[in-house]
Amino acid sequence: MKGYAMLSIGKAGWIEKEKPKCGPLDAICRPLAIAVCTSDVHTLWEGAIGERHDMILGHECCAEVVETGELVKDFKAGDRVLVPAITPDWNSVEAQRGYSMHSGGMLAGWKFSNYKDGVFAEYFHVNDADGNLAHMPEGMSITDASMLSDMVPTGFHGAELADIQYGDEVLVIGIGPVGLMSVAGASLKGASKIYAVGTRQVCIDAAKKYGADEFISYKNGSICEQVLKMTDGKGVDKVIIAGGTVATFADAVKCVKPGGIIGNVNYLGEGDSISIPRIEWGVGMGHKQINGGLMPGGRLRMEKLGAMVANKKLDVSPLISHVFHGWESVEEALILMKDKPSDLIKPVIVIED
Ligand code: NDP
Ligand code: ZN
Repeated sequence: MKGYAMLSIGKAGWIEKEKPKCGPLDAICRPLAIAVCTSDVHTLWEGAIGERHDMILGHECCAEVVETGELVKDFKAGDRVLVPAITPDWNSVEAQRGYSMHSGGMLAGWKFSNYKDGVFAEYFHVNDADGNLAHMPEGMSITDASMLSDMVPTGFHGAELADIQYGDEVLVIGIGPVGLMSVAGASLKGASKIYAVGTRQVCIDAAKKYGADEFISYKNGSICEQVLKMTDGKGVDKVIIAGGTVATFADAVKCVKPGGIIGNVNYLGEGDSISIPRIEWGVGMGHKQINGGLMPGGRLRMEKLGAMVANKKLDVSPLISHVFHGWESVEEALILMKDKPSDLIKPVIVIED
């Protein structure tokens, strides 16, 4: 089969590989629509997960099942499925502890284009098919379905990590596709006011639709100072970080109220440590929590989030700024994701309707 692979850090191209083999609990699927992610950019050009040779890229798609193992109960060839970016081993002790995304080691629930070949291929392998796949809701478009792999579950996880409560004032730092879903998640969880940080106009327009009230540009000076000014020096109840750098933490700590919570889903790509401002962290006694997490994967979450889209509680279509057709567009979509032009939110490639 053909797959679009990372050849080495900074180099990608089409390769030939053997079609993956189906174990008794597994499924082999073929993508219907795929989406390119900022994480693919980190993996390929920044070496975020280290050197990889001939590893097929991609972890976002919806698909059709082509084969299932003899112990798979609920899926069969021909089923159209939602595929989470994170596919944990559900019989692991980490999953039993409630942290399935770390099954087999820290972050090891992220298997596609990390521990094994990803989904930018004619066929891909899904471990624990009954635990990880979900049936695609009737009538859902394949482009919408591809947003359920990573954008919705990760953005919403930001809102979970920050434990948004009714009436909270929330700062969302970063309103790319992930942060937009954090805005949507915070709105759905009852935030009373949402301050959003970002500059691309398409993202600002989409963030308004998802419930953001005020906008802050990180290019206009300190985020924290701008937030404190807008809140009469009080700060916000919760912060979700879905963009920025290691330095963003200092801003988040400074402008969250005592007792507040910071939820980070952003990838931190530089330096050895993150510094927390001592005074604003209440000299160690400020009750300002910092949480950071990889999105939870798995079938139940896919079914629940899929139902939100199917029942029109969440519209993911504003995330999709570019639609391509056919495998030959993968490279162009990846480069677009790296360059982040001003009209980009998320590119999707339709493989087969
Ligand atoms: P984008 O690059 O599309 O969006 C980043 C956002 O951050 C933009 O709004 C950008 O603003 C803003 N930003 C850029 N620089 C700064 C800065 N210095 N301070 C504050 N804001 C800034 O990324 P995605 O939405 O695709 O992804 C966001 C992050 O989530 C990535 O790091 C990605 O790797 C990570 N991720 C994490 C996952 C998880 O499970 N935890 C899963 C998937 C992705 P502007 O409008 O100017 O561009
Ligand atoms: Zn992704």
